[in-house]
Amino acid sequence: MRTPASWVVVGLDNGGTCNNATVLDATGQFLVDHLVEIPSLVQEGPEAAVTALADAFRNILELTSTPLTLVRAVGLDTPGPASANGVISSKGSTNFNQVSWHGFDIRGALETELGLPVIYNNDANAAALYAHHRHFGDNAMRRSSVAAIVGTGLGGGVVENGRVVSGAAGMAGELGHVQIPLHGVLEADQPIPACNCGFEGDVESIASLTGIKNNLLPYWLSRFPDHPLASEPIGKAAKLLRGYGEKEDPLALAVFGQQARAIGKLFTIAANFTDPHAYLLGGGVVEAHPHFRQWFLNTVRETTELRREQLAVASFALVADLDMAGARGAAVAALERIQTGPAR
Ligand SMILES: [Zn+2]
Repeated sequence: MRTPASWVVVGLDNGGTCNNATVLDATGQFLVDHLVEIPSLVQEGPEAAVTALADAFRNILELTSTPLTLVRAVGLDTPGPASANGVISSKGSTNFNQVSWHGFDIRGALETELGLPVIYNNDANAAALYAHHRHFGDNAMRRSSVAAIVGTGLGGGVVENGRVVSGAAGMAGELGHVQIPLHGVLEADQPIPACNCGFEGDVESIASLTGIKNNLLPYWLSRFPDHPLASEPIGKAAKLLRGYGEKEDPLALAVFGQQARAIGKLFTIAANFTDPHAYLLGGGVVEAHPHFRQWFLNTVRETTELRREQLAVASFALVADLDMAGARGAAVAALERIQTGPAR
């Protein structure tokens, strides 16, 4: 923990069980170097949850000895789907399933509660923004990136000149639900993977824990019926798979190879769509054994078809510190908004 040398912004990452908070000063230094979490109370409804966010805000100011008068703005991120302005989907979502959440303006409610400007991003976009700034440092505002973050789903975002591309309805950068060519990804006799969103053959149907459990592992276990994971419940087997991948188990490498190639197909679409400076990869795979994560990144890179001119300027990288990325990305967005004003 440090104490501020200038005015600051606060970043609040709202999750299903906890809020994580951070403080960023005007020089771009984070005052918090580890996770600071308190319960988010989202299951108790909007009123309790907004109070819990305000508690997280006051708690992080106290821990960093930051006077309230130094705070210029607050960055907030939550899981989506939500509008670009932080209005939770009218259909609710996994985290916001109570009817009182449907269509709730969480950004506006927190702004009223704190009496400070609140800048909103969804959690995947906030993480992508942090990954971008961490990767490019001082050059961040002059660079573009696309980030794919493999978790329960496939999150990420698109960053252009240091700013998240959020779209007209706030739904840009939903990379998990981009449908990809499956040639070169699936085996000839493999069923087309289905996603919870209703699409078939999108990135998340392959490159996510859910994709492993629902689609890839059932198929590959039919090819390796004597594999030790065949006797485990499928959800548990899916979580254990990375450990097998680190030991170069053939079934696990087949599954993760398909994930990496799916991400490579996504990045090929990105190359022809926004032609970014960097292709960033995050999630559980980043915490894996160095040999395994390098193999995964190399497979992504080999599957991404770039033109010679693009190869000369593009980079591929793994992004770390993702447990703090939501709060930090939310804070970066708030700092940027204060320094440069609203996006045109
Ligand atoms: Zn989908």
